[in-house]
Amino acid sequence: MKIIMLGAPGAGKGTQAKMIAETYKLPHVSTGDIFRANIKNNTELGKEAKTYMDKGELVPDELTVRILLDRVAQDDCKNGYVLDGFPRTIPQAEVLDSELDKLGEKVDFAIDVEVPDENIVRRMSGRRACLKCGATYHIVHIPPKKEGICDACGSELVQRDDDKEETVKNRLSVYHQQTQPLIDFYDNKGVLKTVDGTKDSAEVFEDIKRILG
Ligand code: ADP
Ligand code: ADP
Ligand code: ZN
Repeated sequence: MKIIMLGAPGAGKGTQAKMIAETYKLPHVSTGDIFRANIKNNTELGKEAKTYMDKGELVPDELTVRILLDRVAQDDCKNGYVLDGFPRTIPQAEVLDSELDKLGEKVDFAIDVEVPDENIVRRMSGRRACLKCGATYHIVHIPPKKEGICDACGSELVQRDDDKEETVKNRLSVYHQQTQPLIDFYDNKGVLKTVDGTKDSAEVFEDIKRILG
């Protein structure tokens, strides 16, 4: 099963993708996590990606596509995956499509997690992230068991550099311009499913399970 998570930054794509990955035994592939791991390890890729991420802009398609195709070519992705944060532009979606086409495969579900912009800005200020395992928390809505520490791996939680209010606003405008058109793209392919992301995260996941079966 190949699943794509769509939605604005902070809509809850990562939170839901983690739950889907655990329940359906699929790898969770997040381009944002891959970039952040590279930034943490000070790689060339990390240095390049950071210049865009810090401004709330998208990393160029060419670089992003290369990273993503490398990742999904790995063995654990053979039986499918949950893509979180990719594709984010029509050209990215087209490359994915044509690569899958070559393999006689396709995207099974594109799940759009809908949350209005005004909720997003509030949500992002409370987001805390684990840069080691990619888990995310919210200081009010989804707090870790121990303040500042990741439940999953015990690492310290941080506020992401790009979760500052000004950067979030820019990311939202980039989302509306470049990523939102993917909703029609996948609707036209007949694989779009929409969920109400303003509900409690457990309820959102129940809705997703009903969709995936
Ligand atoms: P969020 O969880 O808020 O949606 P991500 O962790 O998915 O954010 O992405 C963080 C940043 O990484 C983005 O703002 C962008 O700069 C970069 N990025 C991640 N995925 C992509 C992509 N598919 N194309 C271009 N840039 C990306
Ligand atoms: P995305 O991957 O779409 O950027 P995240 O999954 O990181 O979004 O969620 C953004 C923030 O909102 C995090 O702090 C997360 O803990 C919190 N969050 C996720 N889902 C919900 C929800 N349904 N209700 C309230 N807060 C949520
Ligand atoms: Zn962790």
